[in-house]
Amino acid sequence: MDHATPLIAMLVAGLGLAFILGALAARLRMSPIVGYLLAGIAVGPFTPGFVADQKLANELAEIGVILLMFGVGMHFSLRDLLSVRAIALPGAVVQITVATVLGALLAQALGWGWGAGIIFGLSLSVASTVVLLRALEDRGLVTSERGRIAVGWLIVEDIAMVLALVLLPALAGWLRSDTTGPAPDAAALATAVLVTLAKVAAFMVVVLVVGRRTIPWLLHAVARHRELFRLAVLAIALGVAFGSATLFGVSFALGAFFAGMVLSESELSYRAAEETLPLREAFAVLFFVSVGMLFDPGVVLREPLALAGALFIVLVGKSVAAFLIVLLFRHPVGVAMTIAASLAQIGEFSFILAGLGMSLGLLPEAGRDIVLATAIISIVLNPIAFGVSRRLEPYIEAAQRRLRGTATAGEDAAEPGGHVVLVGFGRVGTLVAATLAERGVPFLVIESDADRVADLREKGYACVEGNAASRGVIVQAGIRRASELLVAIPGTFEGGRAIRHAKEANPGIHVVARAHSDAEVAHLGRLGADVVIMGERQIALEMIAASGVTSRPGSS
Ligand code: AMP
Repeated sequence: MDHATPLIAMLVAGLGLAFILGALAARLRMSPIVGYLLAGIAVGPFTPGFVADQKLANELAEIGVILLMFGVGMHFSLRDLLSVRAIALPGAVVQITVATVLGALLAQALGWGWGAGIIFGLSLSVASTVVLLRALEDRGLVTSERGRIAVGWLIVEDIAMVLALVLLPALAGWLRSDTTGPAPDAAALATAVLVTLAKVAAFMVVVLVVGRRTIPWLLHAVARHRELFRLAVLAIALGVAFGSATLFGVSFALGAFFAGMVLSESELSYRAAEETLPLREAFAVLFFVSVGMLFDPGVVLREPLALAGALFIVLVGKSVAAFLIVLLFRHPVGVAMTIAASLAQIGEFSFILAGLGMSLGLLPEAGRDIVLATAIISIVLNPIAFGVSRRLEPYIEAAQRRLRGTATAGEDAAEPGGHVVLVGFGRVGTLVAATLAERGVPFLVIESDADRVADLREKGYACVEGNAASRGVIVQAGIRRASELLVAIPGTFEGGRAIRHAKEANPGIHVVARAHSDAEVAHLGRLGADVVIMGERQIALEMIAASGVTSRPGSS
C-alpha cells in the first residue's frame, strides 16, 4: 500500500476490513463490534501484514467520540442532567473509588507499588463513552430513566478524569517514591484542583449561556438549506469540542456533549441528530478499529493471572458496586442492572490514563498492556453483559415485587400516556390531526419537514421533529405509553421501520398504517400493523359510490 497516503490507507483498510469482519460477526449472531475490533487487530502492529497509522487512527476515533457525545447531548436537556445528579454524582464517585482500591490492591499483589496501583485502578474504573452510548442507542434507552442515569454517571466520570489528568503530573514525584518521598506541596495541589474546577465551571457557563443563544439561532438561520444545515451541525460539534478543549482544558467529549445539550430544547435537535447519524456511525466504527490496533495478543500468555484479576474488577467488581449503589438509591432492579451492565467495560479514558502513567514513569509497561487487553475483552463481552441483565431483569423484578408486595415504578413515567402518536402532517395527517383535536383526543405528531413542524407549533399541537423511521424519534414520542400509532406517511420503508420500533417498545400498541399497493399492505401487516388502509382502494370505493353507477338488471 502506498505509504504517502496514510489516511486513505487507514480508512480503506480499517473500514473495509471492519465491514467484512463486522458482517461476519453479525452472521454468527455476535455484535458487529467484535468484527470491528478484530479488524483493528488485523491492521495493528502486532499482527503481520499491513500496519495502519496508529496516531491517525486515534484522531479519527476521537472524532467518533465527539460526534457521539454531541448526538447524545442533543437528547438531553440541562433539566434531564440535573434530575439525575442525586444518584449520578455519588454513584460515580463511589464506583470510581471501589474500582481504584481494587485495582491498587491487585497492583500491590503484582509488586508494582501504590503509585502504579492508583493509576492502574483509575484506568479500570472509567467506562468507555463510545461503548456505553452505542449500547444504550442500540437498545433505544438513551432518553429512558436508566439511560439518563447512565449518561449522567458518564459525565461525572468524565469530569473526574479531567481532574485526574491534571493532578497526576503534579503528584507524580510523590507517587513514584511510593508515598514515602517528599509530600507534594498541598497549596500548589489545591490551586491546581481549584483552577481546573473553575475552568470546567467557566466552560459550562459560557456554553450554556452564550451557546444557548447563538447555536440554535445559527441552525435556524440555515434550516432551509439541507447541505448548509448539515455543515453547520458538523462545524458546531467539532468546533465547540475543539475550542473548549483548547480554551478550558476539558475533554473533547465533554465539550461536544454540552454543545449538543444547548440544542436539545430547539425543535431542530432531532433533525440535527439525524443528519449526523451516518458520520457518527462511521467514526464509531473507526473508534473500535483503533482500539483493536492497540491490542497485543501476547499479553494473554505473559500475564494471564493479572489479566484475569483486572477483568474480574471490571466485569464483576465495578458492576456489583454500581448495582448496589443504584439499589441503595431506591431505583428499580431493572435500572440497577442496566447501569451495572453498561459500566462493565473500559475504553478510551483508560488508555489515556495508562499512557500518562507510563510517560510519568509510574506504570510498568505490563500495566498498560493489561489495561488494553482488559478493554478489548470487556468490550467484546459487553453485549453479553446486557443480554444477561435483560434476561434476569424480569425474574429479579418479580422477586422484588413479591418481597415488597407492591408494583415497582416503570420508567419514563414522565412521558405522556395513553396518547395517539401520528406520523406525518401532510395531506392525510392534517385531516387526522384536525379530527383528533376536535374530539379532544391527546396526540403527538412526528414530522420530518421543518416548515410543517412550524405549522404544527403554530396550531399548538405537540410534535417531535425528525424521521419516524429512527428508533430514538419514536421513543421520544412516548411510544411506550401511547395507545395508538397512526402512520400517515406514503413511504412504506420508513413507515415499516416506525412500526417495527413501536411494536418492539410497546407490543400492545394498536397500529393503523397507510399503503398504496397490495404488496405494501402485506409488508406493513407483517411488520405488525393491525389495520392497513390502501389509499387507491379507498379512492376506488369512493368513486363508485359517487358515480351513481348502479347494477344493471340481470348482472350478478
Ligand atoms: P402526504 O403524503 O401529503 O400525506 O405527506 C406526508 C407527510 O409526512 C409530509 O408532511 C412529510 O414531510 C411527512 N413524512 C414523510 N416521511 C416521514 C418520516 N419518515 N417521518 C416523519 N414524517 C414524514
